[in-house]
Amino acid sequence: MLNFDIISFMRGFVLNTVRVRDEDLIVRILTPREVLTLYRFYGARHSYINVGYHIDFIVEESPKATIKRLRNVTQLPFDFMFDLQKMLDFKSFVMLMANHLRDVSRIDGFYYGLLKEISEKIAKRESKRLLIESYVKLLEKEGRLHKENVCFLCEEKIKDKIALARAFLPSHEKCVMSEGFEKEKLNLLFNEKKTLLFDDFEIERLWKIINLGF
Ligand SMILES: [Zn+2]
Repeated sequence: MLNFDIISFMRGFVLNTVRVRDEDLIVRILTPREVLTLYRFYGARHSYINVGYHIDFIVEESPKATIKRLRNVTQLPFDFMFDLQKMLDFKSFVMLMANHLRDVSRIDGFYYGLLKEISEKIAKRESKRLLIESYVKLLEKEGRLHKENVCFLCEEKIKDKIALARAFLPSHEKCVMSEGFEKEKLNLLFNEKKTLLFDDFEIERLWKIINLGF
């Protein structure tokens, strides 16, 4: 067994933080290949860590410690940092992803790549539209995007508008008792990952469905 500390330089997105023993933090970070759970001891000069932040950091592994330590955190600035609404929307998306990845340690690079892509595009886009399009990419990546117009509840074909349940599961309006979306609009979203046919009211409705959970 090694008896010296190992340090690694890494980059990732903060998925969540839990305060322990007054001032220490347990931090979960999404990197391109893994979701890390790290311990940060309190220090007055430490930078503030918030959910959604993109950070450079050092992981310190000590043969004497059971949990890896988080050190030398540097926040990589976003170009949308001073747009409160975009920051809130991005943070909501990261929190949903954190919950979705709560039992994961090894991970496909898709997830880190998706957050990176969003953080680079969101300044120039309407944030909820970008996040809805990104969510559809995630569903497709996980094999959970249902493009066939069949109701997940009654398993009958959907002829009219398509209502969406949690995880964008297609259904009849009457089966989930909610208003549907026009097929052509959903087809463009599901096939081309584009929200441009939806009006702002529909975008709010899609965003609410995403917020039920990934
Ligand atoms: Zn049905």
